[in-house]
Amino acid sequence: MLAVTNTLTRAKEPVRPHTPGRVAMYSCGPTVYRYAHVGNLRTFLLADLVRRALEVGGVEVRQVQNITDVGHMTNERFDRGEDRMLVSARLEDKSPAEIAEYYTRAFLEDAAALNLQRAAEYPRASDYVPQMQELVARLLERGHAYEVDGNLYFAVESFPGYGRLSGNTLDRLRAGHRHDEPDPRKRHHADFALWKAAGPGRLVRWPSPWGDGYPGWHIECSAMSLATLGEHIDVHTGGEDNVFPHHEDEIAQSESVVGHRVVTTWVHGRHLLTGDRKMAKSAGNFTSLRELGERGRSPLAARLLFLQARYRTPLNFTWEALEGAERTLDRLRSRVAAWAGSAGTPGQEPGATGYQERFWAAVDDDLDTPRALAVLAELEGDETVAPAARLASAQAFDRFLGLDLAAQVGQRLPAGAEGLIAERERARAARDFAAADRLRDRLATLGVEVTDTRAGTTWRLRR
Ligand code: AMP
Ligand code: ZN
Repeated sequence: MLAVTNTLTRAKEPVRPHTPGRVAMYSCGPTVYRYAHVGNLRTFLLADLVRRALEVGGVEVRQVQNITDVGHMTNERFDRGEDRMLVSARLEDKSPAEIAEYYTRAFLEDAAALNLQRAAEYPRASDYVPQMQELVARLLERGHAYEVDGNLYFAVESFPGYGRLSGNTLDRLRAGHRHDEPDPRKRHHADFALWKAAGPGRLVRWPSPWGDGYPGWHIECSAMSLATLGEHIDVHTGGEDNVFPHHEDEIAQSESVVGHRVVTTWVHGRHLLTGDRKMAKSAGNFTSLRELGERGRSPLAARLLFLQARYRTPLNFTWEALEGAERTLDRLRSRVAAWAGSAGTPGQEPGATGYQERFWAAVDDDLDTPRALAVLAELEGDETVAPAARLASAQAFDRFLGLDLAAQVGQRLPAGAEGLIAERERARAARDFAAADRLRDRLATLGVEVTDTRAGTTWRLRR
């Protein structure tokens, strides 16, 4: 059974769904005004791993991932034009809806390239504005919200559990905010906007009982999660920056409306960094999956790179590490293809059973992916286990890893290539590296790329 670290309790806990055998999972999705960066994708991968680990264990998972196409997007740089200019330069002056559509598609393509399983639903915030208004109305009715000039705020003092998730309880927040200029419209400085009045230049706006406006970012996720998954959500995922205020506020809103706990397990991934700083759209230090492709790197090399670190540790993104992951991926695939090529009849293989047990134990232990990969590497090097058994294990592991490890199985080398590879291995053994290089070039003209690893020379067909 999968156990994960629950941000709410700060403990490692098994995922026990409210309805046995069926997990309802909500994953905070992308803001679609530009390409997702690989940091965002690391967080989305976390959701995919939780889901795959549960599914391999026989649990049915209904995953919903929202698309943030209003509010959050428009209240940042968007309205002021900076990003808009950047974006429209590329998109030939599209409307906000068209921009959102364009980047939603791009996100879905990136997700597919990374082998993230498709969610059951991708609700778009712009389709749920009536549900958001309904929640705001109920919060008003119950005394959890108040209105000031068309702006609605959540009154944090009305929710006793505020701060439980992040540790930012009101007494602590008060201490931290002592020197800040208080917003005169708010009753408490930690109160947050549920609905905002639209200014004159505001492109995206909706009529509401409180005048034209647009939703706050947090109410979007409360509305979409309650509408698509109901009042009991087993797992909710996001990046560490979502803990506060986004998820803290989501809890306050949702629980004030339904009157009980909604989310059981909160799972947050640590950030992807570049040069020890958070990779961020606003910091401009980000890399998209497209840029990876332009540099000749494959999306699944990024997936492997992320798997090499556990989700709970920050990870520095470097091109060198990515290149290393690409080499490892090539090696694994050609090994799997070799096992398939020499596999006898797959029969009972006691040799591989121990590896399988250890692999899944690592996965279930709070997604310890580095340990799981180490088990695979050990199996790779264990010549006492028959190829058929190694193949079967690698394929089973790949249901979780999602690395297309069998990508080269059944792929044939073009005529003559096998002989050249053998010749090159002999040249290398004789330390005639000039000859080996010439042979590499000849193989390249046949569309075959060779890589030398400790386990021998591997090959792949050029994409
Ligand atoms: P956004 O598109 O900005 O709304 O972010 C989408 C998701 O990516 C959120 O769940 C964030 O927590 C997550 N995220 C943002 N930056 C990073 C990062 N550098 N590393 C990992 N996750 C991130
Ligand atoms: Zn969210």
